[in-house]
Amino acid sequence: MYRISGNGGRSPGTGREDTQTWRRREDWLEGRLTDYDCQRCGACCVDYFGTTGYIQLTADEKTRMRRMSLPVVVWHGQELLGNRPHVGPGGETCCVAFTGEVGSHCACAIHPDRPSACREFEAGSEGCKFARMEVGLPV
Ligand code: SF4
Ligand code: SF4
Repeated sequence: MYRISGNGGRSPGTGREDTQTWRRREDWLEGRLTDYDCQRCGACCVDYFGTTGYIQLTADEKTRMRRMSLPVVVWHGQELLGNRPHVGPGGETCCVAFTGEVGSHCACAIHPDRPSACREFEAGSEGCKFARMEVGLPV
């Protein structure tokens, strides 16, 4: 999750750091920066391609997902974590581990055990911005 740093609700100080923090806060309030809060987004958990699986798994992850009783599917020779139907923006299917609503309160049900592809995906990256655009969230 990417968050804009705050100052814990304190008044602006006289130091350079405080001034920068408050400038960034003003930018955010005026819509010039985006708060990439994954727990209010979920865009990258939607499968835009509408396939039977979404997240690519390593051999170890495949075993781990199966131990958690999650579906693993084979698609064009790749092993993927399965999908489920999705009602909402961005596509008709989403990752089976996604909970909640895109653009609202949401979470990954297996967050501590999520695949490496999800761990490596960075909030605020180009892929993140693309996913957010697909569901109509600001970038
Ligand atoms: S698209 Fe970006 S902000 Fe949204 S959940 Fe994924 S990483 Fe987080
Ligand atoms: S495993 Fe979790 S973080 Fe990865 S796509 Fe599925 S719901 Fe999203």
